[in-house]
Amino acid sequence: MQHFPVFLALNESRVVIAGGGEIALAKLRLLLKTEAQITLCAASFAPEIEALRPRVTLVRRPLLGCDLGGVRLVYAATGDATQDARIAALGRKAGALVNVVDNLGASDFITPAIVDRAPLVVAIGTEGAAPVLARQIKAQLEAALPTALGALAQIGKAFRGMAEHLPQGARRRNFWQDYYQKDGPQAYARGGVREVEETLDNLLARHMAREAPEGRVDFVSAGPGDPELMTLKARKLLDCADVVIHDRLVTPEILELVRREALMIAVGKEGFGPSTPQAEIHRLMTLHAGQGAHVVRLKGGDACLFGRLDEETEAVEAAGIAWQVIPGVTAAASAAASIGQSLTQRGRNSALRLVTAYDMQGYADQDWRALAAPGAITAVYMGKRAARFVQGRLLMHGAAPDTPVTLVENASRADQQIVATSLALLPQHAARLAGPAVILLGLAPKAAETALELQEHAQ
Ligand code: SAH
Repeated sequence: MQHFPVFLALNESRVVIAGGGEIALAKLRLLLKTEAQITLCAASFAPEIEALRPRVTLVRRPLLGCDLGGVRLVYAATGDATQDARIAALGRKAGALVNVVDNLGASDFITPAIVDRAPLVVAIGTEGAAPVLARQIKAQLEAALPTALGALAQIGKAFRGMAEHLPQGARRRNFWQDYYQKDGPQAYARGGVREVEETLDNLLARHMAREAPEGRVDFVSAGPGDPELMTLKARKLLDCADVVIHDRLVTPEILELVRREALMIAVGKEGFGPSTPQAEIHRLMTLHAGQGAHVVRLKGGDACLFGRLDEETEAVEAAGIAWQVIPGVTAAASAAASIGQSLTQRGRNSALRLVTAYDMQGYADQDWRALAAPGAITAVYMGKRAARFVQGRLLMHGAAPDTPVTLVENASRADQQIVATSLALLPQHAARLAGPAVILLGLAPKAAETALELQEHAQ
C-alpha cells in the first residue's frame, strides 16, 4: 500500500483549487460535501462554478503564493502541465498537501471514489492502477447501500448508549443488524426520521424481551430474467429474506442473489407441467411468516400481472400477516425494449392491451374486434399453445393476415430469441418455441421496419 487512507477533518480549513474548468469542477463537487472554505483561482470560470458563489470564493487570476496562507489542500486542476507544476511547487512551499489532477506521481495525496451516506462514507482507491474498477465498485456499493443509511447511521449513533442495555455480543449485534438491514430502512420509508426514532425504541424493547420477530410476506417482482432488470428494492429484499418462495419462471441467476442462509422453496407453475396447488402456496407463506420469518414471494416479471397476486395477498391478509408488493419489469416491457419498439405511439395506438390467452375456463375470450383493428398493439401472455386460436379469432374479426407479429422468447435472458413474423404465420412459429414467450401483435422489430422503409425509399 503506497497511500494510507485517512479521513481528513476539513471543517474551518482552507482548500484551494487552481483552475476554473471541468477538471476543477469535478473536484469542487466532491469538496462541496465538506465544510471547507474553498477558493478557486483562474482567469475565468465555468458558469456552473460561477453559480456556486458565495459558497466558494473566486479569484479571477492565476494562483499566486499569497493565496495559500493556512491552506491544507491544494488541487492543481488547470489542465496545463506546466501551470500545474508551478502550482504544486507553490502549494508545497506553503506547507499544503498537493494533488495534481490525473498525475499520481506529482501528487502528495489522491482523492478516492466516494460513496456518500454521511456520516457513513466509503472511500475507494486503487492507487491509480484501475480507476474503472474503482468506479465499478462504487456503482455496486451505491446500489447496495440504501440512501437512507446516512440518516439511519446518524440516528443510530445517538442511540448507542440505549443499545448498551443489551448485553454485548450476539444480542446487541442482532439488534443493530435488524436496525440497519430491516427495521430502520422500513421505518424510514414509512415516515422518515420520526418513525425511525420510534422504531428504535420498539426494536430495543423487542430485543430486550427476546420477543420473536414478526413475520411478513413481501411479494417481489423478479422481472423477466436478467438480474439487472430487478429493482433495487427487490435486490435488497433478497438479501434479507429468511424464506424465498419462487416460481419456476425466476431464473437461476436471480436465485443466486438470495441470501445464502435463506430457505428456498420452488413452487412450480410451468405452463402445462405439474404445478403446486395455489392452496399449498398460501399454506407455505402463512406457515413461515406465522413463525416469524421474513418471507419473499418471488414472482416472474411484474407480480401484479397474470400471477394470481390477489389470491395470495388475500390469504396473507386473512392470516393477519403484514405484506407489501414490489413492482417490476413485465415480460411485455422487456420484449418491446428488445425489439427497440414503443408499446404506444401517437397516431398508431393510444391504448395497449396486455392479455392472457388462457383463463380459468380455457382459452380466454377477448374484445377481438378491438384487437383486430388496424394499428392495435397487444401483448399476449401464455400464448404459445393458443396461437392458432388467437390467430383464428383475429382473422375472423377482420385483422389483415400480414399484420406484423413478433414473438420474444426468454426475453432479457442470454438465450433470448426474437421471431419476426406475420399473423398468417404465427401458429407455426409459436409451436417451435420452448421457453416462456410473449407475443407482440401489431409490432415488428424496429431494425426490420427501418430496413423495409429504406428499401422502399430506394425503389
Ligand atoms: N408476471 C409475469 C407474467 C406471468 S404469466 C410478467 O409480468 O411478465 C407467464 C407468461 O409470461 C409466460 O407464459 C410468458 O408469456 C410471459 N413471460 C414471462 N417471462 C417471460 C420472458 N422472460 N420472456 C418472454 N415471456 C415471458
